[in-house]
Amino acid sequence: MQRTLTAPQAGLDPANELAGKTAVVTGSTSGIGLGIARALAGAGMNVMLNGLGDAAAVEATRAGVEADYGVKARYSSADMFKPNEVVRMIEDARVLLGSVDVLVNNAGIQHVEAIETFPPAKWDAIIAINLSSAFHAMRAAVPDMKRQGWGRIINIASAHGLVASPFKSAYVAAKHGLLGLTKTVALETAEHGITVNAICPGYVLTPLVQKQIPETAKARGISEEQVIKDVLLHAQPTREFVTTEQIGTLSVFLCTRAAASMTGTALPVEGGWTAQ
Ligand code: NAD
Repeated sequence: MQRTLTAPQAGLDPANELAGKTAVVTGSTSGIGLGIARALAGAGMNVMLNGLGDAAAVEATRAGVEADYGVKARYSSADMFKPNEVVRMIEDARVLLGSVDVLVNNAGIQHVEAIETFPPAKWDAIIAINLSSAFHAMRAAVPDMKRQGWGRIINIASAHGLVASPFKSAYVAAKHGLLGLTKTVALETAEHGITVNAICPGYVLTPLVQKQIPETAKARGISEEQVIKDVLLHAQPTREFVTTEQIGTLSVFLCTRAAASMTGTALPVEGGWTAQ
């Protein structure tokens, strides 16, 4: 007997079910964070942008999100290195946007160098920005999410949360730690309508990756062209960079009802890198 397919319900359209919700995306003045903020705004969410950058460029980015998607976009200059500023960002989002329904911990930095000369200050900064800021932001945002019985937390980890590469000790440690933190908070919030997931991107051609091309060339004693072909894209069987739009679309999906049973996961978006 042939089954009749029912028409998709309006509630399964992310633009309908997420419209009017609010999202804080750390490190969203550039790269993956901006791609995620734009995707969430495209689903009708009001967004709090955050990150470093020249004031005029940041304002152009913020105004661009409002103009392109007809949502509210606000900006917090909070430094993710500083716990009190992370907490202030969450409080400001509550005041300026009414609530924090979705939290995307995305801010991150990288440094590529052998362990014996790796600068301790770089270790401290990478652990603070790539890992501890997610702890402080979740700690501040979860109580309201529990009270409202709904929340979505997305931690941007990395393929380097699943596997290592040489010369990235602090980054690999922070991203592995972020996956453990994701699972723990997922368990603590599972009965409160909150999901906590990590996305593990492979290489995305953002300023973060562009900066590490000369550093990796130096650390490995090879040319910058060889770094792109033999190191970066060599890791990914597709031999293509992942795009910010792909990460943004997955983030929107994780916010929908369809993803309500996904929590505590680490989702690789890395062209097959960790299948090898
Ligand atoms: P990017 O350099 O383009 O963007 C990083 C963002 O973080 C910027 O908005 C920057 O201003 C912000 N930031 C940096 N330090 C900050 C601080 N102290 N306080 C507040 N904001 C700060 O980099 P990206 O590639 O878009 O990286 C975003 C995230 O994705 C990072 O966590 C990174 O580890 C992760 N990631 C990137 C790749 C990649 O290939 N690009 C792969 C896997 C994971």
